[in-house]
Amino acid sequence: MNDEHHSLRTVMVLYTPGRTSGYPEEPVESGIRLHFLGGGDEVGNVGCLLEDRTGTRVLIDYGLAPTRPPRYPKECPPIEHTIITHSHIDHIGMAPWLVGQYGAALHGTTLTAAVSEIMWRDTYKVSSIEGYPLPWDKRDLDAALNAWQTHDVGEWFEIGEWKCRFHRAGHIPGAIMIEIETPELRLLWSGDIDIRDGPNVRGAEPINCDILCLEATYGGREHPVRATEEARFVSRVKEVVSRGGVVLVPAFASGRCQDVLRILHRAAPHLNVHFDGMGTRLTRHWLSHPEHTDEPEHLKQVWNWARIVSSKSDRKKALDADVIVTTSGMLDGGPAIWYLNRLRHDSANAILLTGYQAEGSGGHRLLEKGSLRIFGNETAIDLEVTQFQLSNHAGHSDLVSFVRACEPRHVVLFHGDDDARSAIAAEFTESPAPSLPLNGETLNLS
Ligand SMILES: [Zn+2]
Repeated sequence: MNDEHHSLRTVMVLYTPGRTSGYPEEPVESGIRLHFLGGGDEVGNVGCLLEDRTGTRVLIDYGLAPTRPPRYPKECPPIEHTIITHSHIDHIGMAPWLVGQYGAALHGTTLTAAVSEIMWRDTYKVSSIEGYPLPWDKRDLDAALNAWQTHDVGEWFEIGEWKCRFHRAGHIPGAIMIEIETPELRLLWSGDIDIRDGPNVRGAEPINCDILCLEATYGGREHPVRATEEARFVSRVKEVVSRGGVVLVPAFASGRCQDVLRILHRAAPHLNVHFDGMGTRLTRHWLSHPEHTDEPEHLKQVWNWARIVSSKSDRKKALDADVIVTTSGMLDGGPAIWYLNRLRHDSANAILLTGYQAEGSGGHRLLEKGSLRIFGNETAIDLEVTQFQLSNHAGHSDLVSFVRACEPRHVVLFHGDDDARSAIAAEFTESPAPSLPLNGETLNLS
């Protein structure tokens, strides 16, 4: 409890109005200045300021890391324009603060804007339940909903002296890379990217640029071949069902749930699959913005095929399903815990984890110790637990070939730990070497 209070106080101090951010005061002489408020030497928690000699200044993303307590990027100096790459909370979580504080405009795709409300309200709810203060309140949230300026993928728009254009990032529907043309240079910001075609969105394509800012989450690590991993997942599902068990698939609401449903519909349409949790509400937005999703007609079929859980009695019925796809993806709450508590008594049942399980999460504990907290009680889970890698980030080789295809003069690697970023940097021996900025650090590139 004491520790908790201590860290909470740290968070509050960080956002006391008037505190400086460490952002340089002097104007930029040439080229472009990048200043990482967060998401430099870490995954998520992104915020990066870009500025050039024209005085044009843009913030890219402003997220938070949903740890307990959450971590926030450093305080942003006054800003009018923010570009949001996609709706994951580690890229969007602190945007309401910017709007409340500075009246900043939020630039993004129509789908990101539509989904943002669900993401922010959920963050607000979780922080109230867990007792963590958020630096923004409900008024800021409402203001943020009105601060969106949406742009189509491929359409040029202007911010100050810069021309900007979105490109598909592959990561999740509505996720974008940003191409920025300043009077002096062309910069490409990758956001979170996947080069491979996924079940719901096609991969990102390289863009020629002078400066490439690239996420490095999976630097030094390769994914298994997607088709092989999907087949392994489907065959586990079929086996559990054939022994009379129910498969619980905890999956992230924004991307993974819909990926899993598409995979199952294609490979095993005879299964009785129920879909519960925040992912159902997000999918409704995907359906009303079909331009951001690959084969939207198929998504509609999948939506009509899956049984959507929307009441308590639906939830009880789902216990007789073959498969239940639901949140949270790391077993940190949500309907997944309710289901797990019911399903844990029959050893024919199984839990198939479909994503990364962060340290401290329920899923991580389950993998390490075979137990997790259910409604406050540490509970042993004597069920099959299998993990699959269905990531929507590019792996090492794809990141490296992406850099080569963009032919940048300079590469900036962010959104990765030291090992990941060094592994990518080691592939490029020519000068200048890739930059590996730390949070709070300023880069001047031309
Ligand atoms: Zn993401």
